[in-house]
Amino acid sequence: MFLSLALAGIGFSGLACASTNSTLTLTGSLTTSSGVLEIPKGASCACAKLAHAIPQGFILPGSQNYTTQATDSYWDIRADLSPACIVIPSTASQVSQAVRIIGTCQAKFAVRGGGHMNYPGANNIDAGVLIALSKLETIDVKSGSVDVGPGNNWYDVYSALEPYGRVCIGGRMKTIGVPGLSLIGGFHYFNNKYGYAMDNVISYDIVLGNGTLITVTRNAHSDLFWALKGGANNYGIVTRFELRTFEVPKVSTTIQVFNETFIPDFLSAVCEAAKLDYQDPIAAGMIATITYNATTKIPQGSVLGVQAGVSIPPSQFTNFTNIPAIERINNITTMKPWADTLDSPKQTMRVQFSHKTMKPDAKVLYSIYKAWKDSVDKIADIKGLYPTFVTNVISPSSIRVARTNGVGNVWGLEEEPLIIWQFSTGWDLAQDDLRMEAWSRQLTEHLHSINKELGIASEFIYMGDAGEWQDPYAGFPSENVDRMRNVRSVYDPAGVFSILSWGGFKLGL
Ligand SMILES: Cc1cc2nc3c(=O)[nH]c(=O)nc-3n(C[C@H](O)[C@H](O)[C@H](O)COP(=O)(O)OP(=O)(O)OC[C@H]3O[C@@H](n4cnc5c(N)ncnc54)[C@H](O)[C@@H]3O)c2cc1C
Repeated sequence: MFLSLALAGIGFSGLACASTNSTLTLTGSLTTSSGVLEIPKGASCACAKLAHAIPQGFILPGSQNYTTQATDSYWDIRADLSPACIVIPSTASQVSQAVRIIGTCQAKFAVRGGGHMNYPGANNIDAGVLIALSKLETIDVKSGSVDVGPGNNWYDVYSALEPYGRVCIGGRMKTIGVPGLSLIGGFHYFNNKYGYAMDNVISYDIVLGNGTLITVTRNAHSDLFWALKGGANNYGIVTRFELRTFEVPKVSTTIQVFNETFIPDFLSAVCEAAKLDYQDPIAAGMIATITYNATTKIPQGSVLGVQAGVSIPPSQFTNFTNIPAIERINNITTMKPWADTLDSPKQTMRVQFSHKTMKPDAKVLYSIYKAWKDSVDKIADIKGLYPTFVTNVISPSSIRVARTNGVGNVWGLEEEPLIIWQFSTGWDLAQDDLRMEAWSRQLTEHLHSINKELGIASEFIYMGDAGEWQDPYAGFPSENVDRMRNVRSVYDPAGVFSILSWGGFKLGL
């Protein structure tokens, strides 16, 4: 009954429902704003079986929640696609059931957590099955750790930890999803002391390609435990993360804004922040960006800094505090209200990320910024242009955590300071997609080639800041990539998470 009502929904045409072993088979096409999609046999088969197996969490095009799930749940408008059907499991065993069905039908599928990855196809799919994890929302605070379902965002987790005066290592913006960030690395304010989000996952429940649900810890399936520390969506669907927590009842925050005159000093302070290297560091980190208004021609640097404790102004930001600022607000607060101010609303623009990594060199970083700004001026005709120059620091102490914890991670970085320089560029119209990608890619590669000549380039690529044309695995040590591929062949020999779920940063076939 449910199925036949749903099938009457707009969007599908030529549907036939045939009974096969008491499940229904769909065939037909799906009309979207960008054309007509043919529904492949595998997706038809899987959708029909999923409708039967998980009726309360099953959505077809045209039904009430389809747009919410296929479009509104994505950060980047480019990620909006048209799945043949959507399944929203409420339990890990439903995830397992869904994966088994998808495998049996050989359907192409995608998995979505918080929907922030802006690599189109990483978390959504045309004419395939979308598994949306939004109903796996458990948060269970324990002593020294927290169990988190992949339907949560970081604000949910910080809010749950707040009454206990504890924090975990997660995202810096409020609504980023827990699963994507934890599986690719995880830049947080406190990386310098505790390492990356991935370094602080104590255990994973994961549904493998054959539908089996296993718990992975440093002692159980230790090879997969290692591979999940940065290995993205290559191994299965994580249905529970156990995250280490730390006692941080108060944080000292600083918001500082700088005008164009002081951008060289601002970038120099970013480089100095990367070089900070204490054996027992005070947990502190930041978001450091330069926005540029291509119409008014006004750039502005800003640092949003957070430090554990109550020292005010926060001692680890002296290099910024010494620069004359347009605005400077220091405050003592806790993680939850701070995170609450940093939203990243979904569906506001189309966005291209691209970045490279370098050793800290303030003069060169400034020249990269200048080249970016000049280049933005040349594309100022693009409707809705929203250019941002973002930096992320990798401090030696942040790397040391994985190098000394007996587990490691797939990045395999040396203990040296690095700076990620990233262009995050927003715009309005789909017709500009190819132009924006070409612009961003050419500029990034050109500037990186100069850094290579200077001997200060690093090949490290962070999946969270990367454009879809970038290959993070090429920047990992090759022995790590070989090991990741070996782990994949053990845990997913049929290639369910490589061939059927093909989107995102995959190890390659
Ligand atoms: C505005 C903004 C701010 C950001 N800030 C930060 C930051 O502060 N620190 C940082 O490190 N990164 C940051 N990022 C990058 C961010 O970490 C990645 O985009 C990350 O993938 C987001 O996680 P998600 O769950 O929202 O992603 P999704 O888009 O839902 O998923 C990302 C990938 O993971 C896969 N996946 C999702 N859930 C699971 C699961 N349970 N099991 C297996 N695979 C799964 C998806 O299939 C997809 O390929 C930011 C990105 C944006 C857009």
